[in-house]
Amino acid sequence: MERSYVIKPLLNEAYPMISHGKGIYLYDTDGKAYIDASSGAVTASIGHGISEVIEAMNEQANQVSFVYRSQFTSKAVEDLAFELNKLIDADEDYHTFFVNSGSEATETAMKIAIQHFQEKGQHQKNKVISRWTSYHGITLGALSLSGHKKRRERFVPLLHDYPVAPPPSCYRCPFNESFPGCQLKCADELNVVIEKMGAEHIAAFIAEPIIGAAGGAIVPPRGYYERIKEICEKHEILLIADEVMTGLGRTGEALGMDHWKVKPDILALGKGLSAGYTPLAATMCSESVLEPIKNGSNFIMSGHTFSANPQSAATALAVLYYLKKHGLVQKSKTNGAYLKRQLKTLFNQFDFIGDVRGLGMMVGIEFVRNRASKDPFPSPTFLTNKLVKKAQENGLLIYPASTARPQGDGDAVIIAPPLISTKEEVDQIVELLKKTLKEIQ
Ligand code: PLP
Repeated sequence: MERSYVIKPLLNEAYPMISHGKGIYLYDTDGKAYIDASSGAVTASIGHGISEVIEAMNEQANQVSFVYRSQFTSKAVEDLAFELNKLIDADEDYHTFFVNSGSEATETAMKIAIQHFQEKGQHQKNKVISRWTSYHGITLGALSLSGHKKRRERFVPLLHDYPVAPPPSCYRCPFNESFPGCQLKCADELNVVIEKMGAEHIAAFIAEPIIGAAGGAIVPPRGYYERIKEICEKHEILLIADEVMTGLGRTGEALGMDHWKVKPDILALGKGLSAGYTPLAATMCSESVLEPIKNGSNFIMSGHTFSANPQSAATALAVLYYLKKHGLVQKSKTNGAYLKRQLKTLFNQFDFIGDVRGLGMMVGIEFVRNRASKDPFPSPTFLTNKLVKKAQENGLLIYPASTARPQGDGDAVIIAPPLISTKEEVDQIVELLKKTLKEIQ
């Protein structure tokens, strides 16, 4: 192509053009194959070119692709919300507000939380609080709550808020303690923060069950979310789980929070919901969160033109059926544990690997200049960029991430292959990564 008019992430860089995808592979127009070991942006969770999904998309397109949600509902959105409610498997029902991106899903969650208290007459309870080392989206409300220095710093004048709670990172404990001796100080700090700010001003606390892009697959310690839930309940604060990356089987459970058996009051889904076949995201809330709104204004003050798009809903429904039919949540657990074990073997070969962590098919690797001091490489993200680029040259796609360093620097990557990946494919991923690490060593 002579000249491109598309604004791409790196403006001066030429990007390969993809011609097609099949299973865990993408192929460019020069015929080069890439193993999609990042599922794009941890999105293509059932892989590419799945015929059942394509058939469902065609079938819906032949009926109707778009209806406006203020005028109509459709069978596709009704069926999808029904299936999602089953997936949560809670004592009370969960209702779904469909949007188009993870950022919109977390912003909608914030709005529902604030509106919930407004309709109960608690107008002062209007703040949503969050943690450092987090990413909830790029739009301004979601970015305000995101503890990700690089993504925030240029736009601070536009942001209404900043995170207040510490991340539950055992590898880089904000209190320099270790589990279990720490007695979950990182969770208890939320209580301290709430008491300082005044619970009467706080509507909700938002957290990623397993920290993704901002931390490189950080798994909180045992008991962390149970404690967080207790603290939220004590102060009548809603718990929002940002499951945009962790939801729909990515971590080996239907939802990331299932690892702690905690039901959030509100949750955000995206990415794996439509597995990248169409843009779709969702905010779900429990019946009890919705009730005051139903009994009050009877209207959630949010929405987008493309919300509850039947084409996307039919696609996501086919993705969900595919997940169930092929037992992909369980497969993510089993093959994800295998992936982590295999990646841990690299620890012995490369002394710049500081930590290997994660759950299911969401495994993070953090790189350090010195394993004992955990110091990062001097040029932040230099190593990650070099590694991700070199891996792509070698036909392997991996996802760059930040770390829990308070300075906002450090290098990590997430390996998050489609949940359909077999053990043999996991072996191929690990071999290609090993080759790449040797080359950049
Ligand atoms: N929340 C989490 C946990 C994410 O990982 C992301 C994206 O990476 C988002 C929200 C934002 O989603 P989107 O890029 O679809 O707006």
